[in-house]
Amino acid sequence: MLDIQSYLPAKRKSSPSGWISFNAVCCQHNGQNPDRRSRGGLKVNDQGWSYHCFNCGYTASFILGRTVTFKARRLLSWLGVPETEVDVLNLESLRHRSIHGIIDDRKRVSDAIQGIEFQEFDDLPPGSELITPEMPLYWKYIRDRHVPEDFPMLTAIRNDGIHWVRPHVTVPFTYDGKMIGWTARFLDNKQPKYINHSQPGYVFGVDQQHESWQHVLVMEGIFDALSIGGLAVMHNTINDAQVKLIRSLGKEVTVVPDQDRAGLELIDRAVELGWAVSIPAWQDCKDVNDAVKKYGRLGTVLSIMQARETSRIKIELRKKQLVKRI
Ligand SMILES: [Zn+2]
Repeated sequence: MLDIQSYLPAKRKSSPSGWISFNAVCCQHNGQNPDRRSRGGLKVNDQGWSYHCFNCGYTASFILGRTVTFKARRLLSWLGVPETEVDVLNLESLRHRSIHGIIDDRKRVSDAIQGIEFQEFDDLPPGSELITPEMPLYWKYIRDRHVPEDFPMLTAIRNDGIHWVRPHVTVPFTYDGKMIGWTARFLDNKQPKYINHSQPGYVFGVDQQHESWQHVLVMEGIFDALSIGGLAVMHNTINDAQVKLIRSLGKEVTVVPDQDRAGLELIDRAVELGWAVSIPAWQDCKDVNDAVKKYGRLGTVLSIMQARETSRIKIELRKKQLVKRI
């Protein structure tokens, strides 16, 4: 099996959590300057590996038994792995599937029938620690964005005790109490703004819903969802797997789109699904998080419930009014 570690740059460090950091090999292929601050991270386990770059945001992973993905192929080529080696890796991986993967595949099919499952992914960025008031830059950021105080926000100030990474806050993704991914939001106003390790069909915030709540609010952004205890679909549309997960909660669904051009698509999707839509007439607020900053959590939720529309005609009317405002 291809030993990816033998292709890593010679200058590298290992963190106690198992991440190897080295100068990222992706950035110059993504329109950025080459990395000189060891912002690339690789973690290897017996099932494969995952890579992320804390500079340009590139991520890729490989799981034994699966096809080598396009992103993984690109990464391997940047590391200097010959294409023939990658093809061999792909064949070996798929051979593994025929021995071990069948049971897994069966399990996945039955999971798909019974409910929704995500693979555990607890590889947080190296050096991740909880944000505390002793980290004023990060603490202020999460307070300003109205993240609940009991939500575990993380950051890695230095990714292995030596190398600085771009300042960021990490939001862990959980499902059924298990960590299944994360997103890191950079605070330095450079692109990209986020690195994501998510899984198809994941909806953020499901674990924050209370049994007794009758309603569930669905929006695009993670900080929107965090600030009012809603769900985030993380795009301006909702894919079928996400629909299934949201429906499985058995609550009244209200979609709260961003009040911009991109939000219009989310409105159309909500109408298609027969879900309620709420477009409150906030002043100068692009999204829920802006509204929470301006009106507070309770004021925002109340305005959302008041502006909630279930009839298709009324939703179209509100959408037209929104188009005029944006
Ligand atoms: Zn990069």
